Amino acid sequence: MSAAPPQPHAPSYYEASRNRSLTFASLTGHEHADVCVVGGGFTGLNTALELAERGLTVILLEARRVGWGASGRNGGQLIRGLGHDLDRFLPLLGAEGVRELKRLGLEAVQLVRQRIERHAIDCDLTWGYCDLANKPRHMDDFLAAREELLDLGYPHELRLLGAGELQEVIDSERYVGGMIDMGSGHLHPLNLALGEAEAAARAGVRLFEQSPVTRLEYGRRVRVHTAQGQVEADTLVLACNAYLGRLDPTLGGKVLPAGSYIIATEPLGEARARQLIPRNMALCDQRVALDYFRLSADHRLLFGGACHYSGRDPKDIAAYMRPKMLKVFPQLADVRIEFQWGGMIGIGANRLPQIGRLAEHPNVYFAQAYSGHGLNVTHLAGHLLAEAIVGQQGGAFDLFARVPHITFPGGERFRSPLLALGMLWQRLKELL
Ligand SMILES: Cc1cc2nc3c(=O)[nH]c(=O)nc-3n(C[C@H](O)[C@H](O)[C@H](O)COP(=O)(O)OP(=O)(O)OC[C@H]3O[C@@H](n4cnc5c(N)ncnc54)[C@H](O)[C@@H]3O)c2cc1C
Repeated sequence: MSAAPPQPHAPSYYEASRNRSLTFASLTGHEHADVCVVGGGFTGLNTALELAERGLTVILLEARRVGWGASGRNGGQLIRGLGHDLDRFLPLLGAEGVRELKRLGLEAVQLVRQRIERHAIDCDLTWGYCDLANKPRHMDDFLAAREELLDLGYPHELRLLGAGELQEVIDSERYVGGMIDMGSGHLHPLNLALGEAEAAARAGVRLFEQSPVTRLEYGRRVRVHTAQGQVEADTLVLACNAYLGRLDPTLGGKVLPAGSYIIATEPLGEARARQLIPRNMALCDQRVALDYFRLSADHRLLFGGACHYSGRDPKDIAAYMRPKMLKVFPQLADVRIEFQWGGMIGIGANRLPQIGRLAEHPNVYFAQAYSGHGLNVTHLAGHLLAEAIVGQQGGAFDLFARVPHITFPGGERFRSPLLALGMLWQRLKELL
C-alpha cells in the first residue's frame, strides 16, 4: 500500500506562539522496534508514550512535524464526551455498553488533565465551557444532557443560562441561552502536542519527523517504508486520521476528511477580550457546521467553524470566516485578523470514533474518525490502544472494536460530494 504526503496548510497562530522548539531527525536506514506508530498527532503521541511507559520499544514516524496535523491546529476546546448521539448504539451494545461509552467520554478529559499535570506541560489549560443555544429546543437538549451527566456522577458544575443571563459568559445577541460546564475547557493544542512529544522522547520513544511513510507491508512482522528508511516491527499503529489518504485504502475509505477553519484577531487587550467572553470560557453553538470560539492567553479571539469537503483550504480563509465572526460579535468590525488557517477533521459515517485492529492483520491497530471532537478522545484512544497491544484486551477497547464502520459510498472521488449533500440536508432541517 502506498501514499503521497498530506497537502500543506497555512501556518497557524499556534506555530507563532509555540513555547518549545523541538525537532527530530528524519528516518534513514533500517530500524527495528516492538511497535511502529505512524502519525505524530495526539493519537500517535499518546499511544507511543503509553507503550514506552509499559516497557515496549517504540518508533514514531511523522510525515511533517510533530503536531502538524489537526492536533496542532485545532480550536483547543477540551469538551467532555465522545461527541455525538450514542443512544443509536443501544441495539448493538446494549444499555450497559452505551453507558460505558458515555462514562469513557468523561474519563477522556481526565486523561488529558493527568497527562498535562504529570508531565508539567505548559499549554494554557483553562477550565470552563459553555454550549450556546441557537433555538429554544436546544435548551431542552441541554436539560436532558445535564440530567444524563448527573446520572453518570459528573462532579463538575453544570448550569443552564436563560437569554437574560448569558452576559455572564458572552457579549452577543445571537443566542437564546446556554449551559455552563466547568469540567470542560480550553488549551493551546500545539503546545500540548509538543509537551507530549517531549514526554514520549523522555520515555524512550524514538521519534522521526519529515518521514512520510510511503508504503506498508503487512505480515507477521510489519515493514514500514519511508523514502530513505524502513522500520520492521511486531505491531503497527496507524494514527493518521484525516490525513491517512491511500496509505491503507480500506481504513481511509471509512474516514471523510473535512476542512475546518480558524481566524485569530490581533491582541484585543485584556479588558476588551474579557468584555466579549467575561469568564474566559470556550464556547460552541449547536449547528451541524458549528461556530466555536475562545480567547487565547494573549487576549485574541480565536474563531473557528465551517466544514469543507473539497480537500483544499479556501484561498482567503479570513474573507470566509470574518463575516461569521461578525454575526456573533458585530462590535469587532474594526479589528484586524492576524492569522488564518485550517486543518482536516476526520468524519466517520456513524460518528463513533473508530478504534480497533484489522481483522485480517491483527497486529495492525488504528484509531481515527473523531468527527471534530478529538482532543479528549485521542488521549483515550492512545490509552486503549496501548492496553490492547500489551495484551490487556477486553473492556473498553473491545466495546469500540465491536462497532462496525461502513466505507463511504462513492469511492475517493464521489464520497465528498455525497457527504456535502447530506450536510446540506442537515442544514436545511436546522432552518425548520
Ligand atoms: C480546524 C480544526 C479544529 C478542531 N477543533 C477541535 C476542538 O476544538 N476540540 C476537539 O476536541 N477537536 C477539535 N478538532 C479535532 C481534533 O483536532 C482531531 O480529532 C485530533 O487532533 C486528531 O488527532 P490525530 O492524532 O488522530 O490526527 P492528526 O493530529 O491529524 O495527526 C495525524 C498525523 O499523521 C501524519 N501523517 C499522515 N500521513 C502520514 C504518513 N504517510 N506518514 C507519516 N505521517 C503521516 C500527519 O502529518 C499528521 O501529523 C479540530 C480539528 C480541526 C482540523
